[in-house]
Amino acid sequence: MQLRVLMLEDSDNDADLLLRHLRKSGYTLDYVRTETPEVFREALQRGPWDLILSDFTMPRFSAPDALAIVKELAIDVPFIVVSGSIGEAAAVEAMKAGAHDFFLKGNLARLAAAIERERAEALLRHQHRRAVEELRESQAQLRDAVHARDAFLSIASHELKTPLTSLSLQVESAAQILQGLALDTGSASRLEAKLKGVSRQVTRLTTLINGLLDVARITSDRMQLSLDRFDLREAIDSVLTGAEDIIARSRSILRVDTPAPAVGSWDRLRIESVIFNLVSNATKFGASKPIRIALETHPTEAVLVVADQGIGIEPSEQERIFRRFERAVPEKHFGGLGLGLWVAREIVEAHGGSISVTSEPGVGSTFTVRLPIAGGAPPA
Ligand code: ADP
Repeated sequence: MQLRVLMLEDSDNDADLLLRHLRKSGYTLDYVRTETPEVFREALQRGPWDLILSDFTMPRFSAPDALAIVKELAIDVPFIVVSGSIGEAAAVEAMKAGAHDFFLKGNLARLAAAIERERAEALLRHQHRRAVEELRESQAQLRDAVHARDAFLSIASHELKTPLTSLSLQVESAAQILQGLALDTGSASRLEAKLKGVSRQVTRLTTLINGLLDVARITSDRMQLSLDRFDLREAIDSVLTGAEDIIARSRSILRVDTPAPAVGSWDRLRIESVIFNLVSNATKFGASKPIRIALETHPTEAVLVVADQGIGIEPSEQERIFRRFERAVPEKHFGGLGLGLWVAREIVEAHGGSISVTSEPGVGSTFTVRLPIAGGAPPA
């Protein structure tokens, strides 16, 4: 077996003894022998070496000095001290300085085994370092990709918003013109129904794009709350009116339990988008079974619950679904970007609140949002 050895030894006899022992142990040697720091440093840098075999003391050099150079150059090579008369204190000193093992020249029986062990360990360390480096590199890759995606999201949603705003204004003015026209009732109501359809789709697109804009803002830390004092029941009503369509299509029966007002300072549009997201998920994953929306008012917080009896979520997925682009269902069956719950959590936490889920597969999911009445004041 080939062994590249850097040998620190001043005595010819001792060097011969060592070389003979290694050859007898089955190694084919490729070695450099020196006793000076200069040659050692130069040879070490030139490398690579499988092993450094070093005497403990030499007239101009010593094992601890050599170990200091190895450390300085950050080169990982097994370092074994072989000394004529190493005392216990010197052996401890060598090991502390980074030597991997030490032997007495008169007792080399275990040397080959130690060399093999140290070579294997050095290989493991090398592989570990490479894996860590590769991981670091791929994380840096990933960061760039995430950054590019976020920048794209931000630009695309801004660009989409401009024509959509104009479209929405045009739909409104068309509706006004329609009212002023002397059409026969049949045509007027058909046209009105069509315009309402267009308007509903424009509203849906606007909600989607506002969601994307929120993602872009959260990513760049620009989400600023615009606080307003209102009753959460108003927000629930407004969401349910806007979601009439999807609720009807889901065939789920909705039960709304909002016995008392819950007035606080929150960002109305954002809280509405949280409620909308939970309700729309409940219709999407609720298997057409009843959905319950409940509001509890406490002295310092309001608690909103959206519960369905649908497909439920595996325990292992229950934390993951709050992360960006994470979904626990196949795309083929349920459309969606996997952003809703992430945005919802960001919004609720920006208000100093929390959002959580309890769920059992096949039984249903209950999402609970806790909002401090003071709102907008996350704990320091
Ligand atoms: P999207 O609905 O666009 O996929 P969300 O972030 O709103 O994104 O939800 C992430 C995932 O969480 C969903 O894809 C689904 O797997 C799971 N999920 C959310 N709400 C429910 C629910 N009420 N019942 C079952 N699974 C749900």
